[in-house]
Amino acid sequence: MNNDENMLATVQSLIRKTGQSLGLEEEKITRLIEPEMIYEFAFEVMMDDGKKKLFKGWRVQHNSVLGPYKGGIRFHPQTSRDEVQALATLMTIKSAVAGLPFGGGKGGVAVEPKGLSVGELERLSRGYVGKVFRFIGEDLDIPAPDVNTNPQIISWMVDEYQKLAGKKAPASFTGKPVSLGGSLGRTEATGQGGMFVLEALIDKLKLRKENLTLAVQGFGNVGHHFAEIAYKKGFKIVALADSQGGIFDPKGIDPSQAMTYKKKNQTLIGFTSQNLTHEQLLSLEVDVLVPAALENVINETNYSKIKAKIILELANGPVTDEAYERLKERVMIVPDVLANSGGVIVSYLEWVQGKQGYWWSKTEVDEKLKKIITDSFERIWLIARKRNLPLKQAAFEVAIHRLVEAVV
Ligand code: NAD
Repeated sequence: MNNDENMLATVQSLIRKTGQSLGLEEEKITRLIEPEMIYEFAFEVMMDDGKKKLFKGWRVQHNSVLGPYKGGIRFHPQTSRDEVQALATLMTIKSAVAGLPFGGGKGGVAVEPKGLSVGELERLSRGYVGKVFRFIGEDLDIPAPDVNTNPQIISWMVDEYQKLAGKKAPASFTGKPVSLGGSLGRTEATGQGGMFVLEALIDKLKLRKENLTLAVQGFGNVGHHFAEIAYKKGFKIVALADSQGGIFDPKGIDPSQAMTYKKKNQTLIGFTSQNLTHEQLLSLEVDVLVPAALENVINETNYSKIKAKIILELANGPVTDEAYERLKERVMIVPDVLANSGGVIVSYLEWVQGKQGYWWSKTEVDEKLKKIITDSFERIWLIARKRNLPLKQAAFEVAIHRLVEAVV
């Protein structure tokens, strides 16, 4: 089984197991697993050398029982139909966990964006919208940024969408720059939400943040903002990594200084005296391991080396089903559908602000995010404690209950 099939199998298996434990009929479980629509397409982009290049793209609309499809667009060379379907399925569960009026969707293009010029990236982003614009919209399917996509890319996409639709539609995408109707607090929302969840958890476990060590894998939008917020709150970050490798300092790392170093040197390597491989970072003896990069990084080959007591899943699907089954008894795994839901929650707040044409301050956005995500945490925690379930299973139960209740 390759990585993408693995993530799809993992989320489908979780839905199946939860549905069965809730006593749902097979028909209802299948309804929750099967995507409502998959768009798969190829489109040409004019490159700077005057030649056209063909790219494969997808938009998967998994489930719209609770509201319009919602989910990011990813640019990555390994993106595939199975990966996008798995991520769209996770979005359905995530929106339902947070109690948002959204369903689940996801998009992607198989491309290595690092090799593209700004002009090529803009034409690729506009080309993608050219393919999907008939199937998306503020009450139908609302995309956002994900891996290797950012507010700049979203602003090209909104512009293209509005040109094709012949109208202004600021709520058709989220993750826009603030100047184009984005929300304050959206860029750091996933990291901020992860912090609210971690704080709520250590409060329950009666742990003190000053005594906890953290290792963060991934230093992009999610990992970098999470690390900065954690550092400011007084957690000790002993390891950080990006795609090129990791760094380690038992005395603690200041993430903003690490970012300044990375911007100058294009790598984190060399910022501390000790470097780490990806596998070494995952097996560190830390209190909290924070995978914030890509899926399936904790799997059957390395689960036995995990020494962390808590895994905060900020990436989507970082722990495979096999690894989860083996780790769930000895490691507190805070599931992605809760831990990284800050992104979709503030996307929801951005969508509401766009629709009403009235914007909130950063403090108001953060307060609303905190309320929604900590309420979700409390509900999941209560079910998990009452019935002695892992948090992941309790989160899937909350989501599946909401979805099944809403089916007419
Ligand atoms: P990003 O492209 O901004 O950053 C990804 C980071 O991971 C980069 O620093 C990259 O160098 C690093 N990376 C890649 N491979 C790695 C490896 N093997 N080891 C260590 N680091 C590696 O992407 P992002 O938006 O931060 O997303 C990260 C994860 O969080 C993804 O799983 C994404 O689906 C998930 N997520 C993102 C959001 C959001 O709001 N952006 C919301 C929810 C979930």
